[in-house]
Amino acid sequence: LADYTIEENRIAELDRLRTSYNKMLLRLSESFETQRQFTGNAAHELRTPLALIQAQLDLYHTTEHPESTAVAEETIQMVTEQNERLSKLVRTLLDMSELQTVSRNDRIELHSLIEEVLTDLEPLAQEKKVELIQKSQGAGAKADEELFLTGSDILIYRMLYNLVENAIKYNRENGSVTVSAIRKKNEVVLTVSDTGNGIDEAFREQIFEPFFRVDKSRSRELGGVGLGLAMVREVVRVHDGTIEVYTNKHSGTTFEVKMGIGADFEKAV
Ligand code: ADP
Repeated sequence: LADYTIEENRIAELDRLRTSYNKMLLRLSESFETQRQFTGNAAHELRTPLALIQAQLDLYHTTEHPESTAVAEETIQMVTEQNERLSKLVRTLLDMSELQTVSRNDRIELHSLIEEVLTDLEPLAQEKKVELIQKSQGAGAKADEELFLTGSDILIYRMLYNLVENAIKYNRENGSVTVSAIRKKNEVVLTVSDTGNGIDEAFREQIFEPFFRVDKSRSRELGGVGLGLAMVREVVRVHDGTIEVYTNKHSGTTFEVKMGIGADFEKAV
């Protein structure tokens, strides 16, 4: 009987192993599939501007007097625009591929980081006639109180930059963007709110997928490559944080990011 029980236990153990290997394999193949889709989409996105450049150059070469200012100017303008788009895409793809390896041990003061992001985006906000507001106090907090976080300063900068850039781009004329950072226990809560037209409920999850855009031509016109929120999601993930979207057709969209402040600062409460 003892032998039989040992044998039974061994079979049960093998069965558990088999199930867990199967799960691992499934996760692995899902991750390969995600990677494959990402590469396919990236190649497609790179091919579009390249094809446009090629078509414009072909037109230039088949035009009888290509040096005539109109054709030459059109060609230069179009090639410059598409080249900018290509550069932006390649830069973002490189940034995304380096995401995992960047150090996340920087001591970041959030209010000054927000100020930096808002200063860098002020020209875009002025162009779009959107007001940028930094709300640095939470309930009961002093205006000049510093708010620290341990993480990657380049990545947190990029995350905020992308969220604020979207909040400006998808806003309305004379709208506003409000950014705030407050501390709640051992977490910081960062919010970026806009006064745009909101995001359709059906796309609330999809907007974080690489290359997904609710309105492709509008996004392209605004200079988007569809990787902004995918990058934001990855930055949140590598910092073990969470991100939520609250959106309404009338009152606009709020992105809320929560991140642990890091062990060093927990002690200093
Ligand atoms: P894009 O380069 O197109 O801006 P993102 O990944 O940053 O790409 O965003 C994906 C899509 O989500 C955008 O194309 C847009 O349709 C939608 N979106 C993002 N932020 C906002 C916002 N604040 N308000 C409305 N729509 C937004």
